[in-house]
Amino acid sequence: MFEKYVKLLREHSMKVTPQRLDILKYLDEHRVHPTVEMIYMELKKNNPSLSKTTVYNNVETLEKHGIIQSLTISGNELRYDFRNDMHCHFICKRCGRIFDIDIVCPNIGKVEQSGFKIEEVHGYFKGICRDCLKKEEMENGS
Ligand SMILES: [Zn+2]
Ligand SMILES: [Zn+2]
Repeated sequence: MFEKYVKLLREHSMKVTPQRLDILKYLDEHRVHPTVEMIYMELKKNNPSLSKTTVYNNVETLEKHGIIQSLTISGNELRYDFRNDMHCHFICKRCGRIFDIDIVCPNIGKVEQSGFKIEEVHGYFKGICRDCLKKEEMENGS
């Protein structure tokens, strides 16, 4: 079940280590864009000897190689994204989870027409997610 991640690391000529595989798997399965702290707390459960520095360094290396990307949407903390393609994000003000929003910026063409080469596009939406809205409705309804 780690094959996908082994392949990903090899495609980027990166050494395959158990820590990197664990981190990639976690990010892939938890698309809420966690912080290093969150990744560390989860992985530590199955691997008590894991250090936060190890997680931090590996996450940083994965980002440097363009396998994952980081977001600064929530202010001072970095959130990590398994996807490295251009897409927008929605952050929930209640639960803090960040969701992927697949819409394409309609103005990319216009910007490029004026001679700029776009390498990154960041679109952020802030509000309340479906789960939190539902919870709110239930609380108000009772
Ligand atoms: Zn929420
Ligand atoms: Zn994302």
